Parts: sequence; C-alpha cells; structure tokens
Amino acid sequence: MSFTDFHMHTILSDGFLLPSELVRRAEANGYTSIAITDHVDVSTIDRVIIELSKMLNESDMIDVIPGVEITHVLPSRIPELAKKAKQAGLLVIVHGETIVEPVRKGTNFAALNSGYVDILAHPGLITEEEVKLAVENDVFLELSGRKGHSFTNGHVARLAKKYNAKMLVNSDTHTPSDMLSQKRVSDLILGAGLKEKDIEVITQINASELRKRFIK
Ligand SMILES: [Zn+2]
Ligand SMILES: [Zn+2]
Repeated sequence: MSFTDFHMHTILSDGFLLPSELVRRAEANGYTSIAITDHVDVSTIDRVIIELSKMLNESDMIDVIPGVEITHVLPSRIPELAKKAKQAGLLVIVHGETIVEPVRKGTNFAALNSGYVDILAHPGLITEEEVKLAVENDVFLELSGRKGHSFTNGHVARLAKKYNAKMLVNSDTHTPSDMLSQKRVSDLILGAGLKEKDIEVITQINASELRKRFIK
C-alpha cells in the first residue's frame, strides 16, 4: 500500500530539516513518496525552484516530488507565481485561508481559479462557490494534520463531499514529530466526519491520481 504526503517543509523555508534528512526520516516513518513544498513568495520563488529541482531523481529511496507552497502572496500575483512553478515541473500548493493566520481574503479564489494549482492547503472556511471551482479546475482540497489549520477540517470535508471535490490528507510537516502514521491519517478522516470508505478514496485513489502528474 502506498503512503504519500504532499505537503512538507525543510530549511529552504521554515522547516527544521535539510531536504535529504526529511526524505530519510519520511522513509523511516513509512511514507512511500513525499512532496517537498517549501513556502515561497515573490522574493524567494526563483531560488527555491532552482534548489528543489536538484532533488529530482536524487533519492534512491522513496519518490520525491519537488514543489512549492505559495504563501501570503497578494491574490492578484498568485496566478503568475503558480504558472512559473508549474512550468518548472513542480507541484503547486497555495497556502489557503486558514482561520489561524491573517491570510488575505481572495487567496482561496485566486488559487482555485488560476488553473496552475494542484492543492489548496488548509482552506479554512472555504465557500460553496469555491468548492465548486475546485471541482471544475481539478484542485485537491487539503484536510490538514497541522494543529490550528485542522480546526476547519470538518467544514472542508462536509462541503467537499456535497460537491464531490477531491480531498487529500497532508501533515504539513515542519519538524520530524509532525509526520503522520497511516492510523493517524485514517483517524483524521473519520474525525472530519467522513466514512470508512473515504479512507481508501483519499489515501489511495486521490493520492495516486496526483502522484501520476509527477511520477511516471
Ligand atoms: Zn500553509
Ligand atoms: Zn505548509
């Protein structure tokens, strides 16, 4: 069984580990593939794209997908940054409107509308219109394993189910202790009000669909 986490940080932004140490620790934790998705804004995106691209095919262990998390960027600039990262072959996450940070209103919409975003992370009190846009543009909605961001997982799950949007569970790891076990992921899915059968859909079917955009 595969076990993928699409949202993890390293010292390239505010994580604690070097990319290589994150990969080794993720492997030891039982992940079969991970994405390294450091925070970027207008000032750091070029540097992080260059540095993370070096991780492609570097590991002889688990599969590593290089990515970025576009964070606290003006909504009007999000499409341009997302396009740049997508054209570099990276997985594109946008740091969504979590209720525990002053993320600018309009961030969720800009991410979902851009056509270059793979995952909207911790979308907070996402609206019904935004969830429909996620379905239209094939953007995965995140249920977060991170304290604080996870407060609205139940809301996200309820609307995603209503409109048939695709969900993923990610740890948003910054330190090694943030990594999740498969049991924790399953419990998180049930805790968000979803059903036993959703575990397979989210962790296997949805994760495999997203992995295929990067790993052939
Ligand atoms: Zn984030
Ligand atoms: Zn993050």
